Amino acid sequence: MTTAAPTPPPDLPPPLGPLVPLAYNLRWDWHAPARALFERLDPALWAATRHNPVRLLAELDSDRARAAAADGAFVAAIDAEAAALRRYLSDAETPYARRGGPADLRVAYFCAEFAITECLAIYAGGLGVLAGDHLKSASDLGIPLVGVGLFYREGYFEQEVARDGTQREVYAAADPTRLPLTLARAADGAVLRVSLPFRDYRLHVQVWRADVGRVPLLLLDTDVPENRPEDRRITDRLYGGDEEQRLRQEIVLGVAGVRALTALGYHPTVLHLNEGHAAFAALELARAEAPARGAGPFATAERLAARVVFTTHTPVPAGHDYFEPDLLERYLGGYVWDMREPWDRFVALGRADGAAAGEPFCMTVLALRLSGFRNGVSRLHGEVTRDMWRHLWPSVEPEDAPVAHITNGVHLPTWVAEDMAAVYTRHIGEVWPLELDEVRWQRATHIPFEELWRARAAQRARLTAEVRRRLAAQLARRGEDAGWASQALDARLLTVVYARRFATYKRAGLLLARAERLEALLRGGRIQFVFAGKAHPRDEAGKEMLRRVHAFAQRPEFRARFVYLEGYDVELARRLVAGADVWLNVPMRPREASGTSGMKAAANGALNLSVPDGWWAEAMTDHNRMLEPVGWSIEGRPGPDGDLDLADADALFALLEAEVIPLFYDRAGAADGAAAPPEGPGPPPMAGAAEAPPVRWLGRVRASVRQLVPVFNTHRMVYQYLDRAYLPAHASWSAVEQSSIAEA
Ligand SMILES: *Cc1c(COP(=O)(O)O)cnc(C)c1O
Repeated sequence: MTTAAPTPPPDLPPPLGPLVPLAYNLRWDWHAPARALFERLDPALWAATRHNPVRLLAELDSDRARAAAADGAFVAAIDAEAAALRRYLSDAETPYARRGGPADLRVAYFCAEFAITECLAIYAGGLGVLAGDHLKSASDLGIPLVGVGLFYREGYFEQEVARDGTQREVYAAADPTRLPLTLARAADGAVLRVSLPFRDYRLHVQVWRADVGRVPLLLLDTDVPENRPEDRRITDRLYGGDEEQRLRQEIVLGVAGVRALTALGYHPTVLHLNEGHAAFAALELARAEAPARGAGPFATAERLAARVVFTTHTPVPAGHDYFEPDLLERYLGGYVWDMREPWDRFVALGRADGAAAGEPFCMTVLALRLSGFRNGVSRLHGEVTRDMWRHLWPSVEPEDAPVAHITNGVHLPTWVAEDMAAVYTRHIGEVWPLELDEVRWQRATHIPFEELWRARAAQRARLTAEVRRRLAAQLARRGEDAGWASQALDARLLTVVYARRFATYKRAGLLLARAERLEALLRGGRIQFVFAGKAHPRDEAGKEMLRRVHAFAQRPEFRARFVYLEGYDVELARRLVAGADVWLNVPMRPREASGTSGMKAAANGALNLSVPDGWWAEAMTDHNRMLEPVGWSIEGRPGPDGDLDLADADALFALLEAEVIPLFYDRAGAADGAAAPPEGPGPPPMAGAAEAPPVRWLGRVRASVRQLVPVFNTHRMVYQYLDRAYLPAHASWSAVEQSSIAEA
């Protein structure tokens, strides 16, 4: 797969030249020494460009550039990092190679969103973060994989929240030539175009390539002059349009995605569809391979299913994509006609009951039908998914529906902040990001309390500073008095963070269901809360929830200890998971398929306080041993007519009051043995007390780190996909290849 090397900005002094390949490979996102080089060039510009090294190099002031080029130590550091990247990219001894993984495996991983780094805003939330972390782990492990997604010029949206809590969605078009992307080219050097039948004409697509370490990510873009104006806007926004726009995007993702791979000489042996949005890819691959197999495209698709892996993330029926057959026919009628397959048979592929005339076409059903390995993303979600789709396999027992589970994870080098990373390097070993051996992680038992507390306190202090800075900017933007922002949060207090999409099932407002208990806690002066999250532009209930949380955060008597920050994105997420003591998660069970933000927090030494849904359900059953609990489970028990929200809110406050707060301030048994635990509601602990480590709290942190970090990460997850899904799928491809060679 080739793309032309990016050209350096014309004014860049030659000694800074090696920064160009460093900028264009997104490995800097999870490789701190490379990131530090860009920051050092111009910290203010680095922040202003939202950590975009391509814009940084293009806009760097020439005096600064000259000074940097004349700094011998700096230039040596650049050369060293450029060499380190070349070594990373050419390393033949990857973990995958050392395991003897087949050299001809080629996985194409499709997803509608990817969160790789903050300047590439083509994600909305957890699905994108998971996909981005999947690519990063595949890169680190050396698994041959290519990502396929869409290039959304205007991204999802930038969030501004007005004084009254109303969310405003701001869309700004990115300039792809000022992002770490290169335009894919054909073998003859011309800009690559793929085209596909679409309505009664052809749609044209260009392809941007991002390099995520060793893993290329292809991003499809319909904004080319050959297309009609309305079609140029197909890829403008993520989840921005109506049902019809969504269908257009999904056709581009699946059909143009496979065509782009082929045009670039990448012939996947395995397709991984991450969510149903990309299900047309399985059909397009079958269409392309059908002639060689001497069968029709649909018959080929059935046989090809053994090479298709499908991961579903949505435990509620309404969350899946359904399209009316008439709408579908307008867009894909010609495509199916060209396949010489009957339209009705095509529609039946997306219906649970193939013959039911009124039933809409479901992308998840299509993906379930055209895949050979299917999975949910936590143990509980696997059960829910089998139950939800068991009617597709009427002849098997419901619990035997062929859907497995592979629990989600997070990419640790992306999410672990510097202080905890240093602790791991010292006590787990240099190899901690790669060798996630549970026995090795037992060493977390021996991290000294003092050292663990110092790292935790440093990360909390950095979060405090960041919250003040952001809060001041947010208030100033609205023309409000920002003076009090410098008093917001206290770096010594127990810090509880709630940050995720404001979808109603996630219940961001749960604390407010018992507002009087929340107020009493805050008056006690021993706890503080930070909230962040965006509501979907068309989710009025989610926006109302945001308004209520925001209104509470505006109350003068509480605002310094209960903060709402606008603009949740991966950068803010990184800071929040680093600084939180407690990560709060209160979904309506079983609607959180997995959740991953709590894993990021755990890896930074926070404790989870969560409803036992998604990943936390299995963390609690498998790891929360009586003697060494890893966190807390919120399990409200409503009476017969009781309200679950109120019951969960009561259970949450009971845990905070009786367990979480006392444990955090229990400074008995500290090294100097001097500090007494503060009793009951009262003033904040004094500096001296804050410095004495809470050893029982930290014991729980060590248990959480030791038991959860080696399990809930994407290296473990990607290896499970490899062993259970990719390698068997690849073997099926190999078997067919061998037999066709034998025939020839
Ligand atoms: C990790 C992450 C998520 C996922 O959070 P959940 O609690 O799993 O829903 C969403 N958005 C961003 C920006 C994240 O970093």
